[in-house]
Amino acid sequence: MKNIIKTRRIPQAMIFVGSSFSLQKQAALEFIKALNCEDRKEEGDACGKCLSCRLIEKNCHPDVYFLKPGAEAVREDIYINQIRELKAKLGLKPELAYWKAVVIEGAEKLSQEAQNCLLKTLEEPRGNSVFILIASQLESILPTIRSRCGLIRFYPTSFSFAGRENFEEIKKLLQADLGYKLSFCQLFFETEPSFEKQIYFLESLESYLRALLLKKIDVRGIEEFDSSLFVLPQNYSMIKIKKALKSLEDFKGLIFSTNVNTKLVFENLMLNL
Ligand SMILES: [Zn+2]
Repeated sequence: MKNIIKTRRIPQAMIFVGSSFSLQKQAALEFIKALNCEDRKEEGDACGKCLSCRLIEKNCHPDVYFLKPGAEAVREDIYINQIRELKAKLGLKPELAYWKAVVIEGAEKLSQEAQNCLLKTLEEPRGNSVFILIASQLESILPTIRSRCGLIRFYPTSFSFAGRENFEEIKKLLQADLGYKLSFCQLFFETEPSFEKQIYFLESLESYLRALLLKKIDVRGIEEFDSSLFVLPQNYSMIKIKKALKSLEDFKGLIFSTNVNTKLVFENLMLNL
């Protein structure tokens, strides 16, 4: 998220999906703060002290709107009205901020009607405004909305980080050049690892990348990890981590579903790390 701020390529809408509402909301607030901060730090963090930061922290910034499913949301029409109201507000000039922001809490509870209304809003770009949808799952969110949103997944912090004993090795691997990565594969397969061992290694890699991602977005709860474990792959951007996780997922799928030569799969994966 810090990269988004730094590169100023702000997506019009994002979905924060995960099972920890408080983490997702906190991340949303941090993001909006950083976007509008009057004294943003070089790394892309908000200062936390300026007027804008303070107002956002207290939930009373005039250009930051929150939609939440309260008791009244049981009645869909209120919810769609909330979106209509919002549309009108977004049409107005910001009072204070450069970026207007809308945080929709419990986006999975948006009615179909409300979602269609939201979609229309997303289809008509209105200057500098950003939507953050906080959701516990994606299934009930229309694919047409999903396709317009950047997706950020939050993993539970009680996530069992499998294979943490491999983290040092993995850290070295991620920073190494391709030559090292390929010779790592060579050595690994020389020991004729069992299928379980191969999968376990991939899972360790996945855990490490996920932990790295959580560290990047400053999610609390993984302080238990020695942070030096995650210091060096700083040049590993969020995009790079996500790409690595995606290829990891694809390659794992290949190993499970076909009779593919797993060493070849590992080598290909190394090209994508
Ligand atoms: Zn600030």
